[in-house]
Amino acid sequence: MPQTPTPLSFERAPLNWPAVIMFVLTTVPAVTIFPWYLITVGFDTFEIISFVLLLGATGLSITAGYHRLWAHRAYEAHPLMKIPLMLFGAMALQNSILIWASMHRVHHKHVDDEDQDPYSAKRGLWFSHMGWMLRDYPSSALDFKNARDLKEDPIVMFQHRHYLALALGMNFGLPALLGWINGDLWGSLLLAGVMRLVISQHVTFFINSLAHYWGRQPYTDANTARDNGLLALVTYGEGYHNYHHLFQWDYRNGIRWWHFDPTKWLIAASSWVGLTRNLKRVPNFVVQRALLQRQFEVARERISHSAGETDPRLARLHGLLEQEWQHFSHTLAEWTQLQTERFDAAKQQLADQWEHSDMRKRLRALEVNLRQQNARVRLLHLQAA
Ligand SMILES: [Zn+2]
Ligand SMILES: [Zn+2]
Repeated sequence: MPQTPTPLSFERAPLNWPAVIMFVLTTVPAVTIFPWYLITVGFDTFEIISFVLLLGATGLSITAGYHRLWAHRAYEAHPLMKIPLMLFGAMALQNSILIWASMHRVHHKHVDDEDQDPYSAKRGLWFSHMGWMLRDYPSSALDFKNARDLKEDPIVMFQHRHYLALALGMNFGLPALLGWINGDLWGSLLLAGVMRLVISQHVTFFINSLAHYWGRQPYTDANTARDNGLLALVTYGEGYHNYHHLFQWDYRNGIRWWHFDPTKWLIAASSWVGLTRNLKRVPNFVVQRALLQRQFEVARERISHSAGETDPRLARLHGLLEQEWQHFSHTLAEWTQLQTERFDAAKQQLADQWEHSDMRKRLRALEVNLRQQNARVRLLHLQAA
C-alpha cells in the first residue's frame, strides 16, 4: 500500500531537550531505583497514603482544573478551589495552565489534523501519547490568541510566571517535606515524588492516545475520539472522550449516574459548598438527539451496504427507516417549537407555574419519544446486519 511521505518539518523537528531530560530523569529511576528500593527497604503506610493522596490530587487537578475549568470553561470556581487546582496541577509537570489549555483548545478545534492538532491521533499511538512532546514540532507552536480569557485570570498568570519554582517546589519540596516528617526522605522522594509523577503523567497521556483509539463512538464518528468505560477508571472519568469531543463545554464527561467520573463528582460536590458554580450541562434532549442521529447513520450505512438491493427484506427495512426518519423530523420540529414558546414565555415573564410544568411534561414526552425511537432504529440496523 503506498504511504504518504511524512513532511520534512515533522521528521527533522529538533529535540525538545527540557522534555527529553525530564522524561529520562523520571522514567529511569522509576524502573531501576524504585523497584530496588521497594524490595530492599519497602514503603510504610504513611508513604503509601501520601502517594495515593498526591496521585489523586495531581490527576484531578489536571482533569477538573486544567481541562474542564480552564481549557473548556465548563464551570466557574472560587479562588479557594482554583488555588489548589493550580498548585497540584503544577505538580503534574505538564506545563503551565496557559500553555496546556491553549494547546488543548487547538486539539479540539483541529482534532485529528496532522498539521495542526498538537497531539493528532492520526500520527500514531506513540506520537499522540508522548512523541509529540519530545520534539519541537510546528504543530506545537504556541499562540495564546485562543486564551485571552486565561490571560486575565490572575491565578493562571501567577502560575505561568512562577511555573518552574512551583513545579520544583511541588515535585521535590513537598515529597521531601513529607519524607522529613516521616523520617524517610528517599522513600518519600521515590514514591510520592518520582513514581507518583510518572503514573500521573501517563494516565493523562492515555486520554490523548488510547481515548482516540480504543472504544465506541456512540455520538459521532467525525473524529477519532472514543468512549471507553475502562479507560475512565484510570483517567478520573475522562474515558468518555467521544461525548466530550462533541459536547466539550459540559462539565461532565460520563453523563449517566453509573458512569465512573470522579472529576464530575468533585465539581458537583464542590458546588454544594459554593466552591464551584454555573456548571454547564448539555440538555438531555440534545444528547438523545445526537445518539439517535448516529443510530440513523449506522442504520443507513448497514442497509445500503447489505448485498442485494432488490432483496424485499432490505427494501422493507429501508422503508421502515425512512418512516422513522419522518417521525424524528417531526419530534425535532416539536422541540424547536417548544424552545420558542419557552423563550417567549421567559421574555414576557408570563409563564406561571402551570405553564412551566406543562412545558416540562411536553419536553419529557419528547425525550421519551427519542429514547424509544433509538431502540427501534437500533433494532432496524441489527436486522440489516
Ligand atoms: Zn481528544
Ligand atoms: Zn477537552
